[in-house]
Amino acid sequence: MPSPKDVSTEATHNRPRVIARAQLAEATIAAAIDGLVTVDESGRIVEWNPASENLFGFARDEVLGRRFISVPKSEAFRGPGDVRALSVHGRTDMEAIVGRRVELHAETRAGESLLIDVEATEFEVEGTLYYSGWIRDVTGQRQLRDALDLSDRRFEAIVENASDIISMLDADGSWLYTSQAGVRQMGYEKGFNPENGLFSMVHPDDRHIATTSLEAVMSARGVVSPPIQIRVLDIEGEVHWFENVGINMIEDPAVEAVVIYSRHVCDRHRVLEQLQHRSQQLSTVLDTAGSAILIEDADGTVFYVNDAFIDMMRLQQTREEIVGQPGRWIHEHIASLTVDPEEYMRSHEDLRNIEEPTTYEDIRFADGRNLKRDCRPMQQDDRLGSVLWWYWDHTREHEAVAVRERMLKRERHARALIEKQNESLIQLGELKNELVATVSHEIRTPLTAIVSFVDLLDDTGIGPLNETQQGFVDTLRSSASRLMTLVDDLLLLVRLDSATLVLESIAQDVVEVVRSVTASFAPTAECKSIDLVLLLPPEPVPAVFDPARIGQVVSNLVGNAIKFSTDGAVTVELSTTEAEWILTVSDAGIGIPADEQGDIFERFSRASNARSNMIDGSGLGLAVCRRIIELHGGIIDVESVEGMGSVFTVRAPKGAVGT
Ligand code: ADP
Repeated sequence: MPSPKDVSTEATHNRPRVIARAQLAEATIAAAIDGLVTVDESGRIVEWNPASENLFGFARDEVLGRRFISVPKSEAFRGPGDVRALSVHGRTDMEAIVGRRVELHAETRAGESLLIDVEATEFEVEGTLYYSGWIRDVTGQRQLRDALDLSDRRFEAIVENASDIISMLDADGSWLYTSQAGVRQMGYEKGFNPENGLFSMVHPDDRHIATTSLEAVMSARGVVSPPIQIRVLDIEGEVHWFENVGINMIEDPAVEAVVIYSRHVCDRHRVLEQLQHRSQQLSTVLDTAGSAILIEDADGTVFYVNDAFIDMMRLQQTREEIVGQPGRWIHEHIASLTVDPEEYMRSHEDLRNIEEPTTYEDIRFADGRNLKRDCRPMQQDDRLGSVLWWYWDHTREHEAVAVRERMLKRERHARALIEKQNESLIQLGELKNELVATVSHEIRTPLTAIVSFVDLLDDTGIGPLNETQQGFVDTLRSSASRLMTLVDDLLLLVRLDSATLVLESIAQDVVEVVRSVTASFAPTAECKSIDLVLLLPPEPVPAVFDPARIGQVVSNLVGNAIKFSTDGAVTVELSTTEAEWILTVSDAGIGIPADEQGDIFERFSRASNARSNMIDGSGLGLAVCRRIIELHGGIIDVESVEGMGSVFTVRAPKGAVGT
């Protein structure tokens, strides 16, 4: 093939215009950077320039006259060499791509894959059609483009899926791009572009700080700005906190933008707010605490002190002046206020080295105050170091304890006195019982003699008594008998109280005892024209009791009912329950005044109406009854209306007799 130099020589000297033109065309083709293949209508190669030789590795001579293979359906383009399926396809293919640029896969002689860009043209020379294709190897370009695409896709994937919102702004601050994942978090649609710029989404109160910070970012190139927190409104108008940093990368050719990274910090913000609130609460509590509080860092520097501490320790400095100072001088100052400074400092050192919360009591101050001190080691960064000192004035409690101790001492003294008095009283009671027993016994013996002599006087064998004598004898007998009853009752009470009388426990029929005792009162009742009504159960009522004592109770109650009645009926009724027998003695006599009913079971107690009506009695009978019934585990009670009558009720268990 002629070189460009040859072309110029020939063009100049031999066939200046025509030859020069053909030669020029030929030289141009030969010098072309792109490969040129020309085929005739049958698909045979008629032109194959050096660039094609270079591209495919086939020499011009090897390919001229041979068919150009193309398999368009699969977009494969093969170099010459394969003659099997050439002609028709070749022609048709060239026709098919005329006027277009297509990218095709090709293979070199050495079997290397190429991506070629083919632009085909069609022309006619002397009635014959030719097709030319300009071929360019675009393999490298394609690889570059693919790599670029991949990097773009990666970038997009990273940015779009980042939890931070990434925004890019122009040099003049106008909005270029915002990653969509972050935008969607705020409820906005993909592709959302705030109409009034990004700042329209910023909370009105934070717009100023946002614009100021952006201005700062714009003016500092390539430096990441300090983070700022601003509120951004979501699509519902809800406030979200974002922490933003920005970097001006306008001059970076790869970016050419101001990049803003916005991180959603609502949770962090909420926690921070809670923490701030909590710590505010805590410091308020500490500030207003009545106790004095001092907190020292691990190195002994004062970290916190409250007003109560300054006040309690009579310090002249303010809180601000104390915080940050070494704590040691404060403790030395406190020591100087105590009655034993050395002991204070010693215990201070001991407490500082104990890892457990410890309370130290009774720090006595020279001014008379008494303080308690608590030492609480505190954790800092997972290690012990800080110490909380807690003092509180214990003077009042201390005084209260002293007062209490004094009172306790007095109380103990008083109790001892009372115990002594009780002992004396018991002794006195025993003495009284002894006295009564002795006296009663001493009275009873001569009394028995008197009664016997009265009976003798009354005996007709001694001789008849005149009327006056008979009157004396009767008076003597009744007085002696009353005295005897009184002495017997007294003796019985003393014995019952001093437990010298042991009750008998005999199983027998209550009905029988009640019947026989009541029957003995029939003559007396008849004398006073009183109906003595006896209501007894048809069946026996077996129970365990002392028959003599229960007989005495029935006797006292029935005797009283007749004694305190002038007419009407006296009803004696016995009834039972599963566990108890119940005796009621009712009369229509003088009754008992309401306010005196509670006293009549006391010894020597007699109702006022009994006394005013001059009715005989000692006031011992009901006291004896109550004691006997109590010893049987029962109760005795009265219901009475003055002037209308009384009902006495006894309830006692059928079981064993108590002691
Ligand atoms: P007294 O020997 O006086 O009868 P009691 O101890 O048996 O002593 O009774 C104490 C007092 O209770 C009597 O003096 C009387 O005032 C009052 N009393 C007792 N039984 C009756 C009764 N059935 N009716 C009215 N008063 C009664």
